[in-house]
Amino acid sequence: MNEFQEKKIKFAWPEPKRSYDVVIVGGGGHGLATAYYLAARHGITNVAVLERKYIGAGNSGRNTTIIRANYGIPEAVRFYQRSLELYKHLEAETDRWIMHKQKGLLNVAHTESALRTERARAEVNTAFGAKTEFVAPKEIKEICPQIDLTGGNVWPVLGGSYHPEAATARHDRAVWAFAEGAMKRGVHVHQRIEVRGLTMSGGRVTGVETSAGPIAAKAVVGAVGGHVTTLASMAGVRLPIRTHPLQAYVTNHYDLQFDVIASSPGLLFYMSQTARGEMLVGAEIDRQPSYSYGSTYHFLQHCSHRAITLFPFMRSLRILRQWTGVCDMSPDYSPIMGKTGVDGFLVTTGWGTWGFKAIPAGGEQMAQLIASGETPELIAPFGLDRFASDRMMADRGSAGTH
Ligand SMILES: Cc1cc2nc3c(=O)[nH]c(=O)nc-3n(C[C@H](O)[C@H](O)[C@H](O)COP(=O)(O)OP(=O)(O)OC[C@H]3O[C@@H](n4cnc5c(N)ncnc54)[C@H](O)[C@@H]3O)c2cc1C
Repeated sequence: MNEFQEKKIKFAWPEPKRSYDVVIVGGGGHGLATAYYLAARHGITNVAVLERKYIGAGNSGRNTTIIRANYGIPEAVRFYQRSLELYKHLEAETDRWIMHKQKGLLNVAHTESALRTERARAEVNTAFGAKTEFVAPKEIKEICPQIDLTGGNVWPVLGGSYHPEAATARHDRAVWAFAEGAMKRGVHVHQRIEVRGLTMSGGRVTGVETSAGPIAAKAVVGAVGGHVTTLASMAGVRLPIRTHPLQAYVTNHYDLQFDVIASSPGLLFYMSQTARGEMLVGAEIDRQPSYSYGSTYHFLQHCSHRAITLFPFMRSLRILRQWTGVCDMSPDYSPIMGKTGVDGFLVTTGWGTWGFKAIPAGGEQMAQLIASGETPELIAPFGLDRFASDRMMADRGSAGTH
């Protein structure tokens, strides 16, 4: 038997069992990373990930791949910095090339109040473990020569912040690194199995009803992105989540190198260059909540206008492709991770427009919670109970959250 045949056997898709210790609903980054860390860190392998489409079909395969930790509140900075560190070592840990590349992220400010925000961001980041510095227009031009500091004479660049450790990684490779790492250790990853109901007994969740029949579980984890309110309602849990579409696009090849990730929180857009030389552009969520994956001309028009204002070279490029994901937006723009108040049912959600960067730390911490039964200190501030006690983790940390 050759190496390829051996590999195929190792990754053969197994038949679903009728019972597991842990069932994770959703084969996106968060579900798969939770499964991976359960197996890799805790030796818990009697685990199934149930994905109704294919691995990475949700937002984990649709995002703009930005990894950073320059958030606005201490709890978030610590959490995202942990994730940034895990990403740095993920290729060595999983033996999979996820095309991780450190690029640095530049946030530019066009008003005095935006300048104050960037100054405060640099202070909070530095105090809680992330590297961010306040930068003047001259330094901005050095970091990103393509920028028009006059902002088309409408949006002058007055300064900003620079976060050198920000990176990108190929999203589907990252998702598959976790999937393969989990499968190699004995976790079952099932594609094309939809969860249609939760089985309850004595007030606790005891399993799932699926398109392939019932499956029992000691613990069920909801990791279904924008579809989380539907799943949670099956256990009688009402989540403070609204689902909004988020769009992005790529252009054709840009000849020159564009090294940095550039973002204007004021103009609500950001962009970077992909490994294929395309310019990848993202912006804020669609205002109207919906589950629609439809892409709009309105988005292209507005987003391109802003991009051209700051980066005139964008005028000569052509848009190749646009797409949409549906985001689980929490009211305070922070994640919701952990117990739900219903025994046997946990969620990892509220990942909105910012959850790709959080995949390793989110998975690691959820796995620790499941293995130990105790909520780890790093994610304790992000529990669902914060809404009952009016303890918001308000953090509009990205262009996508306005
Ligand atoms: C355009 C866009 C750009 C973004 N850019 C960034 C970025 O640059 N940086 C960043 O950090 N974040 C970004 N995000 C956000 C990030 O992609 C998400 O927060 C993250 O991928 C969420 O991962 P997840 O595993 O929670 O959900 P998903 O990846 O959405 O996975 C959920 C999975 O659950 C499955 N599912 C749903 N219901 C069921 C069911 N009943 N049964 C079985 N399976 C089910 C779905 O098919 C899906 O595959 C962006 C998002 C979008 C849409």
